[in-house]
Amino acid sequence: MQIREDLGHLIGNTPLIYLRQVSEATGCRILGKAEFMNPGQSVKDRPALHMVLEAEKRGDLKLGGLIVEGTAGNTGIPDTQAQEKKDMLHLCGAELIEVPALPYKDPNSYQHVARRLANSLRQSEPNGILFADQWNNLDNRKAHYLTTGPEIWVDTNGNIDGFICSVGTGGTIAGVSSFLREVKSDIVIGCADPQGAAMCEYFSHGEAKSSTGSSIAEGIGLGRETAIISDIKVDQPMTIPDSEALPYIFDLAANEGMIVGGSSAINIAGAVRLARELGPGHTIVTILCDYGTRYQSKLFNRSFLEGKKLPIPNWLKKEVGSHSDLFVENKT
Ligand code: PMP
Repeated sequence: MQIREDLGHLIGNTPLIYLRQVSEATGCRILGKAEFMNPGQSVKDRPALHMVLEAEKRGDLKLGGLIVEGTAGNTGIPDTQAQEKKDMLHLCGAELIEVPALPYKDPNSYQHVARRLANSLRQSEPNGILFADQWNNLDNRKAHYLTTGPEIWVDTNGNIDGFICSVGTGGTIAGVSSFLREVKSDIVIGCADPQGAAMCEYFSHGEAKSSTGSSIAEGIGLGRETAIISDIKVDQPMTIPDSEALPYIFDLAANEGMIVGGSSAINIAGAVRLARELGPGHTIVTILCDYGTRYQSKLFNRSFLEGKKLPIPNWLKKEVGSHSDLFVENKT
């Protein structure tokens, strides 16, 4: 058994998991990188650590300093996000400022509020302040270039034909794809975009135009070009509706015992489409970004899904207490 120095040393080196049902259905080997096994239980541990370490190296942040971030994902969260994630941030000692969910072009969008807050506090923090700014901070992308990409390459022994994931900041897709292209120039890179995001159009035609509709998947769905994604090439961009994606994670929960979140659903659906595109016999890797328990009140909530007219798995349709027939004998 290894003894790790601290929690930060547990970040990364997550395993690839063979996704049985979708692999069997497509004749491809579809592997999910189990990012929910990071200590913070999401793919965002990697950029969070790397952004802090680099800020310390530069001397911007010292012990006891302050980190400010605006995010809808797993790095911190504004007000439309699942309560489970907010509770977790409070437990970690973060001060959470919840703001209305506004589009990026609005000056009160959470990213602009965070930047203004960081600037206003800069003078008063003796130990420095890091505005993590994951959308524009290239250390985010670099974390995946240095760790996620190489881990996938080593763990597949180089037997990989395609990689696909969705875009929140784009750190994952940009970092992983730029590493994999260096070691395997003919790898096929896919982008699985939720409805309402602009990456499918951007990677297809160079213009960040949002698709119609919306998605309940949290932490993904970029609507504009940023420095992180501006120089990457995506071979297979696609928009995936929630109605197509969610059944994959419901099946995964019921048959393979894995409870993953909405962005993983979009990713798995993308991997299936890519598998069908490439044909049987290929290996495709995607990202299992976080646990579904974080979204239990939405993703695995029958009335929430009903309200959104989304598919509901049979096992969630069962009424609580529907096994009361088992207790009939006790009544006599
Ligand atoms: N899934 C979830 C649940 C996330 O929180 C995020 C990050 N916002 C992503 C996927 C996307 O990761 P990235 O920012 O690297 O594009």
